[in-house]
Amino acid sequence: MLATRLSPYLEKLTRKCPAIQREFVPTKNEGQDETSTFDDPLVEEQHTVTRGLVHKYGNRALILLTMNCAAYCRFCTRRRKVSDIEKGRLSDQDIENMVKYVKAHPEIKELLFSGGDPSTVPVLLKKVLQKFVKLPQIKIIRVASRLPVSNPAMVNKQLLNALKVVKKQPLYLMVHFEHPAEITSEAVEAVKKLQKVATMLLNQSIFLKGVNDDVEILSELFSRLVEIGIKPYYLYRCDPVKGAESFIVPFKREVEIFTQLRKRLSGLAVPTYVIDAPNGAGKIPAPLNFWNFDHENYQDFNGKKLRVVEGESHL
Ligand code: SF4
Repeated sequence: MLATRLSPYLEKLTRKCPAIQREFVPTKNEGQDETSTFDDPLVEEQHTVTRGLVHKYGNRALILLTMNCAAYCRFCTRRRKVSDIEKGRLSDQDIENMVKYVKAHPEIKELLFSGGDPSTVPVLLKKVLQKFVKLPQIKIIRVASRLPVSNPAMVNKQLLNALKVVKKQPLYLMVHFEHPAEITSEAVEAVKKLQKVATMLLNQSIFLKGVNDDVEILSELFSRLVEIGIKPYYLYRCDPVKGAESFIVPFKREVEIFTQLRKRLSGLAVPTYVIDAPNGAGKIPAPLNFWNFDHENYQDFNGKKLRVVEGESHL
């Protein structure tokens, strides 16, 4: 079961902003929907080739470094295991096995460190990064972190020193802002520090009912992100995750909102709006209302027909 955790900083923010509260504080009804959702919508367990390493797409692999986060988002795609820190703890042998697997697969050129939030375990992050940056096959490193939102004070020297290990490869930091009220002066400070050690900061957001399913909110979010030097990268349709049903926005509404955003914002501020196909077969860009298209069905990268999952959601 997904734990609840809030830093004092975030607790203050949740008191000020109901949308942020909704992201992090469970409701009474959490997990009581009966929509056709999945524990593991991105079929990561099936693609786990050695403990902690998911290899789903040929040239890149995902490393789940920890199940720890500074705060636990109620809509998390990995809520089946995130916050179970003991179960997610990697041993030295697990790390060696991951290195061995990557070496045996020279087609892997890019590594994404995620979890949990790998930035919450800087000692481990440094140790593992040191092993992988040495491999000549690795051309790109990505590290995902929600710390600028969940606890900006944790963006400290120790973390920055861990990230500085990446010298030969470009380091892309994948941050995760969902609402403009998350862009506080503390968050901006944390972002500035990260910008000193990373090649680029990219933002991933999710359409979330009751949080950001609104043209004005997303318009402000993406505009502000560009102003602080973060490129909005992906806007996802919420994965059909068991326990996160109430966050799913009706698909037609998302398309309507995003069509308005595309009209209003500069290309730099517009992320790619995608559905992460709930069978692990790719991030499918959703068409907008500039076209006539089927709002109920789509195809994954393999041509398989899929139906859009709608939540029976309530707030
Ligand atoms: S910070 Fe990321 S991994 Fe942690 S709960 Fe939030 S979405 Fe999940």
